[in-house]
Amino acid sequence: RAKREGRNCWRFYSHDIEESLRTRMALQRSLQHAMETRAFDVYYQPKVDLLTGAIVGAEALVRWRRGDGVLVGPADFIAGTEESGLIVELGLFVLEEACRAAQLWQSCGAGISVAVNVSPRQLTEDTFAGRVSDILERTRLPAGLLQLEITEGTLVNQLEHHRTAMEWLKDHGVLIAIDDFGTGYSSLSYLKRFPIDVLKIDQHFVRNLLVDRSDRAIITAIVQMAQGLGLQLVAEGVEDAGQAETLAALGCRTAQGYFYGRPMPLPAFRQLLESRCP
Ligand code: C2E
Ligand code: MG
Ligand code: MG
Ligand code: MG
Repeated sequence: RAKREGRNCWRFYSHDIEESLRTRMALQRSLQHAMETRAFDVYYQPKVDLLTGAIVGAEALVRWRRGDGVLVGPADFIAGTEESGLIVELGLFVLEEACRAAQLWQSCGAGISVAVNVSPRQLTEDTFAGRVSDILERTRLPAGLLQLEITEGTLVNQLEHHRTAMEWLKDHGVLIAIDDFGTGYSSLSYLKRFPIDVLKIDQHFVRNLLVDRSDRAIITAIVQMAQGLGLQLVAEGVEDAGQAETLAALGCRTAQGYFYGRPMPLPAFRQLLESRCP
């Protein structure tokens, strides 16, 4: 009897795996099709100077306009594109769109930067740094207006491999930001070993900032460390004025979040910029 149960169990399990494999492959086909039919859109979320209220930059965030009209967020498909390798092509598409956009924003005045998320899979391509350089040349965006956002986990997993690409980018003036800072399991020593310019404080620490003393203590420590290391700081996930005021009081200069604007299509972002143009 036990044997039979075991057998049924195995069947059930194997069916499950097969099913999930099928679903994953169907998703990957849809994503490939989306790439071919240009069904990915880049949205932009403003980054704001907490002291002046000025827009100082934007983060590029990809969306998938699915065939059925639903706009799908990256949480539901980036992993799929990483699995199939499509992220390499998608990442370059987002990068080029973002650089082209930021080149236009310059007409509004001094340097509004654009930040683009980079997957580990992209960094391990030997051609990555060269492709970034090609895109900067094609779009005529000054390298100093481009920030590449990398998560802590990405760095820790393939330290040495990534260092070459990062140093090359740094030499060419591109800025490197650590995304979701404080959530990875990593020793802080990589801050010393890598050419990092910006830390983005993860939204988890910002969410309960007004009521949670630990979050406040952690942010205070990050501010001090950033000052000591000469790094720029951006707080993510700012949703209300109280959080903004507290962050400013703690010494964080730049913020991003729904309080200042949700990610929006390029025309809407341009309108927002123009309405604030001096
Ligand atoms: P991320 O880089 O940490 O981006 C910030 C995420 O927080 C975005 O979610 C943004 O819409 C959301 N967010 C911004 N302000 C607030 C706020 O005030 N409250 C809350 N609750 N959320 C806020 P999104 O657009 O869904 O992107 C999720 C993640 O997907 C990104 O996290 C990033 O890791 C990844 N991603 C997005 N675009 C790309 C891309 O082009 N390439 C790669 N490799 N990853 C991307
Ligand atoms: Mg990011
Ligand atoms: Mg983040
Ligand atoms: Mg994130």
